[in-house]
Amino acid sequence: MRIATFLLDGKRQVGQVSADGQQIVPFQLSAESAQRGALPLIETLAAGGSLPPLAGAPIALSAVKLEAPLPVPRRNIWCVGRNYEAHAKELQASVFKGNDANPVSWPIVFTKVPECVVGPHDEVQLPGAAASEQIDYEAELAVVIGKGGKNISRAEALSHVFGYTVVNDVTARDVQMRHQQWDMGKSFDTFCPMGPWIVTADELDGTRTRVRCWVNGELRQDGPTENLIFDIPTLIETISRGITLYPGDVISTGTPAGVGLGMKPPCFLKSGDVVRIEIDGLGVIENKFV
Ligand code: MG
Repeated sequence: MRIATFLLDGKRQVGQVSADGQQIVPFQLSAESAQRGALPLIETLAAGGSLPPLAGAPIALSAVKLEAPLPVPRRNIWCVGRNYEAHAKELQASVFKGNDANPVSWPIVFTKVPECVVGPHDEVQLPGAAASEQIDYEAELAVVIGKGGKNISRAEALSHVFGYTVVNDVTARDVQMRHQQWDMGKSFDTFCPMGPWIVTADELDGTRTRVRCWVNGELRQDGPTENLIFDIPTLIETISRGITLYPGDVISTGTPAGVGLGMKPPCFLKSGDVVRIEIDGLGVIENKFV
């Protein structure tokens, strides 16, 4: 099932996307619940309840404005750094300085603030030279947690996955490197395009899909998720050690090689650039940087 959050006539709703991707049928939700996007549905299912009924006639997808499926996540988005070997190599002299010679036994985990989430076709704001001149893209598969839990084992981890969505982990490289901790450089306003919907885990195996990214039509990133250094069960096991994961938590799994910082010379985003990310079996997000 594909669950999308959308605006129609200025009103936020949540719906189920048809199998052909052409239409959407809204769920019967109060306006207040719909403000939180797909989150109330995930919470209800995690608590053992069932989905609300569908209400009304199908609406053409072309007639609505898709928003992020979780337009305001319940808390920071978990993110993973250095999780594809080729990407770790391309940034070993800059972002991953100092640890390139050692075998890595634990993932790098950081977060993005929830307020930086925008929709799958929204504009991303370049912050201006005073804040950063090194804005970069990172195409990523993101896991959406269903049933929450703490100290979740690797073996149990996939049973805690509700579904998957696409995230662009937009990054201000100079700010990322300047502050040691990455959260600031990852959390500028609009720096987390997400969407176009959540595909539930019964329809997509996130451990075996493919992440691709184009900038102005040029293919830059192309990585199978089988190549994750720390796979999805390991990430869930690691992050839930001592920390309770909640329904609707998002874990973005890291980006394949091909980011702008890794190019020779580095090539950062400028106004008018369009970044398109596609994940097989999931969908496409496409955002203009302005
Ligand atoms: Mg990333």
